[in-house]
Formats: sequence, C-alpha cells, structure tokens
Amino acid sequence: MQVVTQVDALPVHAGGVLVPTMGALHAGHTALIQHAAAIADGRPVIVSVFVNPTQFAPGEDLDRYPRSLERDVAMTEAAGGTVVFTPSVKTMYPDGIPDRFAPLPKVARRPGLEDAHRPHFFHGVCLAVKRLFDLVQPSAAVFGEKDYQQLLVVREMVHLLAMNIEIVSVPTVREDDGLAMSSRNRYLSTSERSSALSLWAALRAANGKATITEAEQAMMDELAPVDAVDYAVIRDARTLLPVDDEPEPSVPLRALIAAQVGPARLIDNQVVRLTNT
Ligand code: AMP
Repeated sequence: MQVVTQVDALPVHAGGVLVPTMGALHAGHTALIQHAAAIADGRPVIVSVFVNPTQFAPGEDLDRYPRSLERDVAMTEAAGGTVVFTPSVKTMYPDGIPDRFAPLPKVARRPGLEDAHRPHFFHGVCLAVKRLFDLVQPSAAVFGEKDYQQLLVVREMVHLLAMNIEIVSVPTVREDDGLAMSSRNRYLSTSERSSALSLWAALRAANGKATITEAEQAMMDELAPVDAVDYAVIRDARTLLPVDDEPEPSVPLRALIAAQVGPARLIDNQVVRLTNT
C-alpha cells in the first residue's frame, strides 16, 4: 500500500481508476473502492483523500471535518485500493484558492437544490475534481449516488470539457436501519440520529402517490423530526428539472432531500415511483 502526497510519486502516472474522497472513510467509500478494484483490470486504484476547502463556506464545518488518515489507508488497502493520494492545498491550488469554476455545469444550478442553499458548493466540487483529474489522469472515476446532484455535475463537467474519463456510479450504502452512511453522521447524538432516520422514511413515503404534490407533502410530513428542511423534492432523475404534477410514466423520478439535524446537514436521495410510473 502506497501513500503519496506528490503526483509524480504515483506508481503509474495515467490511466488508473480514481475514487475521490474527503477521507473519514466508511462503508460507503469502501463500496466505491471495491467497485473500482472490480473494474480495474490491472489498472491502479487510486483513492484521493483531500478535504477540499473550496466546497465549504465560511462558518461551515471545514475545521471540524473528521480526519483519520491512518484508518483511511488501512480501509483502502482492505477494500482493494492500491494507492492513497493525499495532495496538499498547495498542490491542489498552486495559484491560491479560487472561488469559482467556469463553465459551471447547468445541472449545478437547478432551482431549489444545492445551489439555493450552498451556492459555493459545486464551484468547489468542480475545482477539486477537475484538478484531481488533471493531476491523476485517470481513465475512470467512481462516485456515489449518495451525492446524486454531484454525480450529475461531474458527468456534465467531463462532457463539457471533453475529458476522456468514464464516470462510474455506485448505489448508496445504508446502515441496517436505512440511514445513508456519511462522514457527518458522527456529529449526531443518539436522539439526533433517530431524527436523521426520517430522511429515509421520507424517501420511502414518496412512493405510490398519485401526484408530485402528494409525494412531496408525504416527504415533508415524515421530515417533522428534523430541525430544518432545505429541500424535499421530486425531480426528473436525468436533468434534476421539475416535472409535471402527473408526469408521464416514462419520466424517471428521483426524490432528493437536504435537511439540518442538530449540527449536521444531511442529504439523501432515492428513485421514486408514483402510482402511474
Ligand atoms: P465524501 O468523502 O463524502 O466527499 O464522498 C466521497 C465519495 O463517496 C462521493 O462520491 C460520495 O458520493 C461517496 N459516498 C459517500 N457516502 C456514500 C454512501 N453512503 N454510499 C455510497 N457512496 C457514498
């Protein structure tokens, strides 16, 4: 197992399978690394660990974001990764920390989703992911559906910039009771954790309703235990645009939630089926 901080120390400089993370690895990340190893076919599996300052706004949890590099290295090795790449902020942003990315993919700006609450966020994601792609030059990169809008943003960015990198997605890994694994779950007390379970309850409650209005109301009802709901909406899964209240059966639907539970802002999402879809 190699831990490298310099790009020129990567064992093969191009063509690997990259799994970008902010560290504090859990079973969700493990699933991504295992998937990367399964498709690698001899290519190195590079897990990047970089707590990206550009995707945090002032006052967010950058300073207290959990860090556990030794454990991350052991987990990467156990999951079949071959290299942990931990670039410094200077390596990632040699000309200083930029505050915007252009051209920002359109799917990053969908009304009512992340951009409405964390306008800096996808600029930061694109800055970091683009730089990691340039440094590591992977042939494929693996992302989780847990961050569904992010997955679509990265896909659109790769398309816009005509980068020859396959973007592979892995379904969300959940605790036995349905809570989506997240590095931020460790901020939760026991009672906050049980409130956090309402995100999963809300995603399930959206199913089987006749209209989008009914399904979104069912989600809001389930979300009563959380401190604040940033959004709980159903969108076209391909574009994240709003859909008709009674969408055509052929339109794939995705429910997306962001909510504050105690000190943690949690996000989750899931496929939804209405009665006619
Ligand atoms: P993060 O370290 O939280 O920035 O996440 C790094 C990668 O792991 C992203 O592609 C996430 O979507 C993915 N990820 C995080 N949590 C999960 C999960 N519970 N299941 C699947 N993938 C996840």
